[in-house]
Formats: sequence, structure tokens, C-alpha cells
Amino acid sequence: MLNAAHALVTGGGTGIGLAIAQRLAAQGAKVTITGRRADVLDAAAADTPGLHPLVMDVTDEAQVQNGIAQAVAARGAVQICIPNAGIAEGRAVHKTDMAFWRRIMDTNLDGAFLTIRECLPAMRQADWGRVVAISSIAGLRGLQGAAAYSASKHGLIGLIRGLSEDYMGRPMTFNAVCPGYVDTEIVSRNTAAIRERAGVSEEDARQMMINQNRHQRLIAPDEVAQAVLWLCGPGSSSVNGQCIEIAGGQV
Ligand code: NDP
Repeated sequence: MLNAAHALVTGGGTGIGLAIAQRLAAQGAKVTITGRRADVLDAAAADTPGLHPLVMDVTDEAQVQNGIAQAVAARGAVQICIPNAGIAEGRAVHKTDMAFWRRIMDTNLDGAFLTIRECLPAMRQADWGRVVAISSIAGLRGLQGAAAYSASKHGLIGLIRGLSEDYMGRPMTFNAVCPGYVDTEIVSRNTAAIRERAGVSEEDARQMMINQNRHQRLIAPDEVAQAVLWLCGPGSSSVNGQCIEIAGGQV
């Protein structure tokens, strides 16, 4: 089913999203990659045949509606939808103002909701679809100093579970993956935040994240991409409403 399917990966120009887009393209999918930075998307598309850049801010309903309509006009109905765009920022709840809370929710939860909603009509019509959301280990349990992020990623899992019930029995599946610390720009930014908060060196801050993985390493973006690829393929058609941890036993 992947060959020549139209896949859409939000945040597909960098990190985990790019690794997923590359895996899908290698299987013959036409992959729309989205994000806010045109230069980043163009560079990713220039590097990998089969990737098509689309500037689209997932926090803006009109941009999501128009952007997905444009992608559908260019490459046909979206059959594989990967809501991956996200921001990870930590702040204690007593220091969290509404603007911070909304920024996290708008991107990680509302952005995923809007993206899936705009892809659904064509999936329903085709009676085939795959949605794999990139949640987090923080979507399954609490993460110290990051309650808003954790709430947004828990909410994303709720959305996926609800969708899986809505379309149960049809050839459409809705699943999530929950990575631990993956070696991307988000982790580099997190390193800086930990360094500041804990007053440790950059090396120690990175080591604190590595120590949480029982294999004592950061996870590679492609490890997440391989799980997503499986969830998009025919071998997982009975897997629905599930969350797969890819976290090296992080506790
Ligand atoms: P990156 O920072 O590389 O990826 C985040 C992507 O989201 C970027 O491509 C960014 O593009 C895009 N993005 C952010 N905000 C918006 C927006 N408003 N509209 C459109 N696109 C947006 O980090 P990762 O690859 O690590 O993160 C990908 C996902 O994986 C995130 O949802 C993250 O929460 C999740 N995750 C990451 C983990 C990790 O340790 N790295 C662990 C668990 C989950 P641009 O800035 O150009 O808009």
C-alpha cells in the first residue's frame, strides 16, 4: 500500500519527522513534508527524492486547511498522516503562564488534531488510511519540570485512542509512538535548558538524558522511523489505538 501512496509528515524537515519521511519515500510513497521554515524544507527535499516541501504552521487553522488542500491537489488524497510537529519546553507549573501553556497545546495537540481532521475526509472516502502520531514517553507518564508538555502528549494519545474507536472495523488505523530521548535538535535545546536549570556542564546535561535510557544512549531518529513505517504497512493492520514505547526502558 505504501508504493505511490501520498503521505504527509508535519515537522518533516528535521529530526524524527525527516527520518520518517525518508523511510516512507524509500518505499515509494510521495511524501509532503511540512514546517514553518521554507529553507529547511527545501534543503530536505533537495537531498531526498520523493519529498515535497509545504510551508504550513500547524497552529494556524487556515494554513492547515489550505496547505493540506494544496498537497491533495498536487499529489492526491493523503492516505498516511503523521502528526509529528512538536515543541518541547519545560517549566514548573507555578511559573507557567497562559501564553506558555497555549503555545505547547496549540502546537502539540491542536496542531495534530487539525492535521488529522483535514486528512480524514479523503481517508474515509478511500476507506483506507494510516495515522501515526508522534507522542512521547511523557505522554504515558509524568516528566519532571515539563507538565504542560506531558499533558499535551497525553492528550495526543487520547485523541488517537478516540479515533481508533470511531473507525474501528474499517481499514483505517490510528496509533502513536512514544519515544524516549532521541538525538535531534529538541534534545540539544533540552541540554541547554537542563544545563541552566541544574547548573551543570553541557556534557553532564546530555549524560543526564543518556542515563535515563537503560541502554545508556540516545535513540536514533531512524529507530522511531522504522516503527512508524511498520505501523503504516500491511503487517500492522490489526494494530489500532496502540502506543508503542521506543524508549530504551526509560523510567
Ligand atoms: P525537531 O525540533 O527536529 O522537530 C520538530 C519539528 O516540528 C520541526 O521540523 C519544526 O519545524 C516542526 N514544528 C514545530 N512547531 C511547528 C509549527 N507550529 N508548525 C509546523 N511545524 C512545526 O525535534 P524532533 O524531531 O525530536 O521532534 C519531533 C517530534 O518528536 C515532536 O513532536 C517531539 O515532541 C517528539 N519527541 C521527541 C523526542 C526527542 O527526544 N527528540 C522524544 C519524544 C517525542 P519548524 O521549526 O520549521 O516549524
